[in-house]
Amino acid sequence: MQKKCPGSSTVLRPKLELRKCPQCGEEVEIFSDEMKVECENCGFVIYNDIQLCIQWCPYAKECIGEEKYMKLRREIIEAEKKNR
Ligand SMILES: [Zn+2]
Repeated sequence: MQKKCPGSSTVLRPKLELRKCPQCGEEVEIFSDEMKVECENCGFVIYNDIQLCIQWCPYAKECIGEEKYMKLRREIIEAEKKNR
């Protein structure tokens, strides 16, 4: 039986999604493993509101690798500070 983290797919196989910039209405592409993206049109920073597996999965660190895990955690903390 293969042990696989149920949440890892959003990070290991990023999906491209379209968001609308709240400031200028321009469509902005964001990958599901990115926490934030800057609008090409006006520079507004859009935060990804999807729940990344690393926010709830206890195996995420081993699953996606420590380097990526640490990077994403930092970005999440940064994003949370700005949303407050
Ligand atoms: Zn914009």
